[in-house]
Amino acid sequence: MLLTIATTAPPATDLGYLLHKHPDRVQTFARSFGEATVFYPEAGDDRCTAALLLDVDPVHLARTRGRSSPDFSLGQYVNDRPYAASSLLAVALADVFRTARAGRCDMRPQAAAGTLPLEIGLPALPCRGGPELAHRLFEPLGWRVEASPVPLDPGFPEWGDSRYVRLTLRGDVRLADALNHLYVLLPVLDDAKHYWIAADEVDKLIRAGEGWLAAHPARGLITRRYLGRRRALERTAFARLAELGDDVEETLDPPVEEEPEAAEAPEPKRPLNVLRREAVLAVLEETGARTVADLGCGSGELAAELLRRPAFTRIAAVDVSTRALSMAARRLRTDRAPDSQRGRLELFQGALTYADDRFTGFDAAVLMEVVEHVDPPRLAALERVVLGAARPGHVIVTTPNAEYNVRYEGLRGHRHPDHRFEWSRAEFAAWATAAAERYGYGVTFRPVGEEDPELGPPTQMAVFARAEARAVAGKGAGS
Ligand code: SAH
Repeated sequence: MLLTIATTAPPATDLGYLLHKHPDRVQTFARSFGEATVFYPEAGDDRCTAALLLDVDPVHLARTRGRSSPDFSLGQYVNDRPYAASSLLAVALADVFRTARAGRCDMRPQAAAGTLPLEIGLPALPCRGGPELAHRLFEPLGWRVEASPVPLDPGFPEWGDSRYVRLTLRGDVRLADALNHLYVLLPVLDDAKHYWIAADEVDKLIRAGEGWLAAHPARGLITRRYLGRRRALERTAFARLAELGDDVEETLDPPVEEEPEAAEAPEPKRPLNVLRREAVLAVLEETGARTVADLGCGSGELAAELLRRPAFTRIAAVDVSTRALSMAARRLRTDRAPDSQRGRLELFQGALTYADDRFTGFDAAVLMEVVEHVDPPRLAALERVVLGAARPGHVIVTTPNAEYNVRYEGLRGHRHPDHRFEWSRAEFAAWATAAAERYGYGVTFRPVGEEDPELGPPTQMAVFARAEARAVAGKGAGS
């Protein structure tokens, strides 16, 4: 199994720094299923190619396979795994290029953060769904795709094509993103994972899919195949993708090939991120806010909604993450906004734990699904910056209700790997009440999403009203 990654950005040999593998060396990594070797067939200033060669040991693989795998006895020993790129290659890639996949490179931080002209080659990739599926999966991510079917036997063209394609991807993509695309999509194309699918697969998928999967037009198919069609895990993954705030609608795309389970698609339910946005907008409207700061705006969905409503005359969208800001800039089309929107929006980088004059002068601030991303020792700083210094008339905070997590089948730990904590209703109420008290605010609480009689709602919301603005504070559920 072979994968090549090439770049032409001079000095191209910087690829060695980015992958944390020296171009002059051949390195071998022993793994339970075989041996992975990284080497550079070419390493010049103008073009540098790294190759990952995986030598699979099918006998060992057969001995260690999961109890549920459907192999028949001979198939365990004689199969295509040694030759075809597949989930094993994805696992090896994740393992061997772990640091690169996280986007870390102290020697070349800029190159790791930015896009590079990349060319990825996979000479033999099992692709259930044919070359069109490769186009459908990689093109929305900014790749130019060349996928040609590999004939069963070039000597006998009449035998037709195999289920393998030779795949070449070209594009200006961040290296870490490219590795994550491959990590998720190789097993999706293969559609046969070799190992037991555990609940932490959902975590792996969410983590590797960060920033691209939630908005991918084929996310339904990708999630379904990646999780080996385990309905319970899929439901958890869909719920959590919706949590990420990108537009994950219930409209899961139809599978490419006829799949019997397509008929029992999950019942249409309004996604939680939509309910949350509506709840926040409703409070903003009730309070009569005209100027709003969306603090920790993520990809800018709420800001986009605010811009669509002329009642909001000034909108600031702030985030600490440059990736979030560039997604927001794309969504809000800051470069070609119509005149009616242009003057009303400010989009800027800022950290909520450092006082910043640009946060002041707003009727309301929204922290939607943000506090749980802040390290607990930094929460006091966030309170000081938002409630103490910026002091908007109202502050709307939403956060997951940890008690509700048992309703997400297969979920262990937090709903998102970046969450530093998730609060029960009592914990959230205690935090919000104390913070309000400290800074002269009143606070009321509201449920968001369908409430469970025992566990409460999936999302909880606190509405802070500054003492003198309190007259119009939440007429909703009491505190
Ligand atoms: N409000 C958006 C995004 C929630 S994800 C939504 O509901 O869809 C949380 C966001 O908070 C991320 O984009 C993250 O970059 C941002 N964030 C986390 N800590 C932050 C901090 N200290 N200052 C500013 N933004 C922060």
